[in-house]
Amino acid sequence: MLKLYNTMERKKEVFRPINEGAVAIYACGPTVYNMPHIGNYRSFLMTDNLRRVLEYLGYKVNLVMNLTDIDDKTIRDSKKAGMSLKGFTEKYTKEFFRGLDMLNIKRASSYPKATGNVKDMISLTKKLVDKGMAYEKGGSVYFRISSFKDYGRLSKIDLGKIKIGASVDVDEYEKDNPQDFALLKSSSEDEIERGIYYESPWGNVRPGWHIECSAMAMNAFGPTLDIHTGGVDLIFPHHENEIAQSVGATGKTFVKYWVHGEHLIVGGEKMSKSKGNYFTLPEVVEKYGGDVVRYMFISSHYRKQLDYTDAFAQNAKNNYQKLKETLENLRFALKEKDSKSYPKDKETLKALSKIRKKFRDALSNDLDNPEAIKAFHELVHLANKYLRAGKNSSVLKKMHALYREFADVLGLFSKVKDEKIPENILNLAEERELARKKKDWQKSDELREIIRESGYIIQDSHDGPKIKIV
Ligand SMILES: [Zn+2]
Repeated sequence: MLKLYNTMERKKEVFRPINEGAVAIYACGPTVYNMPHIGNYRSFLMTDNLRRVLEYLGYKVNLVMNLTDIDDKTIRDSKKAGMSLKGFTEKYTKEFFRGLDMLNIKRASSYPKATGNVKDMISLTKKLVDKGMAYEKGGSVYFRISSFKDYGRLSKIDLGKIKIGASVDVDEYEKDNPQDFALLKSSSEDEIERGIYYESPWGNVRPGWHIECSAMAMNAFGPTLDIHTGGVDLIFPHHENEIAQSVGATGKTFVKYWVHGEHLIVGGEKMSKSKGNYFTLPEVVEKYGGDVVRYMFISSHYRKQLDYTDAFAQNAKNNYQKLKETLENLRFALKEKDSKSYPKDKETLKALSKIRKKFRDALSNDLDNPEAIKAFHELVHLANKYLRAGKNSSVLKKMHALYREFADVLGLFSKVKDEKIPENILNLAEERELARKKKDWQKSDELREIIRESGYIIQDSHDGPKIKIV
């Protein structure tokens, strides 16, 4: 039974999808106007984490993530760069996908672009105008927040602060100043010159950011979806406004579960370019490697702030290394055929199923990654102990399978399986081990050299020899 913290209710709730066994998720995607920073990727990773856990628990997941390729920021910065809006946003869309691959984030079912869905945004706006929930002013169309009685329920804003009739043109504004927000914005002369406009009943317009997500989410899933994700910074005004637009137009519940990921801070402070504590993903991946960064980001609970520091990263790297070494030990031990039973076999199998339950229970409890990772390290501890005591191959196989199961859910070590050690190298290693046992050091050294020339090194440890790729 999966429990998720629903921001709307401010508590954990049992997750029950609309259609049994299937889950519809809409995730707010990137605004493709710069290199996303590591905080953005923590948020995308949270959605990937949720998706993998849902799949692990047996659900079929349909995840849609939008690309905001038209809004205040993309228009402003493409002009600064002297590029067309399309050329500019395509460049950063590529960067965005490159980052997903660095972190082994699974692709969504689709990535609709805002510019590809403007027709739906205009018709959604028309519906709201027809219902008296939106109005035109100076060629732009605004949502009348006083017409939506549930406005503020998600973000818990003080409704007393709403100024009737006051409107705001920018997409981002403060929580203590809720106003009628723009659904469609009248295109400026400059925008028209650059081809950034769409014909509408109210003249040449371009969409505001908030209407984009309502239109694309309902386009993908109909009026109601199971889960909507995003960073906590999107709760107000973006998600509050999405609810107002969607429920305002359809009269139906828009989202059953709102799941929000907390911020990533750096050295205790909000990331900012002026403070010099601003990091893009490629910078951090270059330093630690994609898999370690993924491990680091998912090792904190998604509803807790993550404070990125060198010490935190180094600690994550060490813990990650422990997991990885054990995977290598297990893979190596599996090559040795030994089906004798050992006195600890039964006990070990029992411990394995206990650890598996712990892992599943942790993830089912609002994605408690820290607890799940603890269970993973318990498995590692058990595996290393067993590798020293006995090596029954069927027990080892089960152990290895469980290790893989955990790693897949967490999205780790996906590349390790490609590093297959060829048969001839394994045979040479075995031959060398025999020579060593016979104390034929010369032969053993010769064989080690041959293996090294093929790109592998043998390391002798108290658990026996291990082969590693150079
Ligand atoms: Zn959005």
